Amino acid sequence: MAPLRMVILGRQGAGKGTQSQRLAAEFGCVHLSTGDALRAAVAAGTELGRQAKSIMDSGGLVGDDVMNGIVSERLAAGDVSVDGVLLDGYPRTVEQADALQAILESLGQSLDAAVNIEVPVEEATQRMLERGRSDDTGEAIRRRLQLYERQTAPLLDWFDKRSLLVTVDGVGTPDEVFDRLVSGIESTSAGRL
Ligand code: AMP
Repeated sequence: MAPLRMVILGRQGAGKGTQSQRLAAEFGCVHLSTGDALRAAVAAGTELGRQAKSIMDSGGLVGDDVMNGIVSERLAAGDVSVDGVLLDGYPRTVEQADALQAILESLGQSLDAAVNIEVPVEEATQRMLERGRSDDTGEAIRRRLQLYERQTAPLLDWFDKRSLLVTVDGVGTPDEVFDRLVSGIESTSAGRL
């Protein structure tokens, strides 16, 4: 099977993190979570981590240049070229999607699918409050969800225009949602495998 290059979308609290790990294992690709990469930088106390921490704590978005740099470095690495990738948390804006397209083109690669997990705002908020991450305060959650509607939701159109979008219902057990995602990816990327 050719390596898959995919994006996973959905508002925060939709279950992207859990499902991404399972999908990456299922399709044998690298799971690249930009949130995890930033949290690792914060934990390691790097310059990037220091700059990102206050933005993350307030629920804002780290600058596109920084994010595009992190992703382009990772996509150029050998394991991603061979095994493919599932991008989780990136792109978050149309500008980042344009940058991703340019990065992939420069590597002679292209996207196969963008899977969107659809979960109502109320349920997403409840799930975030329950997981209790340090940046999951009520105010930061509200801000992230607002940003999602404003900046990330237009991405759905971006992917849809390129016939890459597959939306699945994210309400249900993790196993049910996982099965929907696998079928969606297999049908969307069928012509490309
Ligand atoms: P996540 O784990 O994807 O919810 O990301 C946690 C935080 O990291 C976000 O609230 C942002 O502050 C930052 N972040 C992660 N990915 C990106 C991105 N692609 N663009 C900008 N900021 C990001």
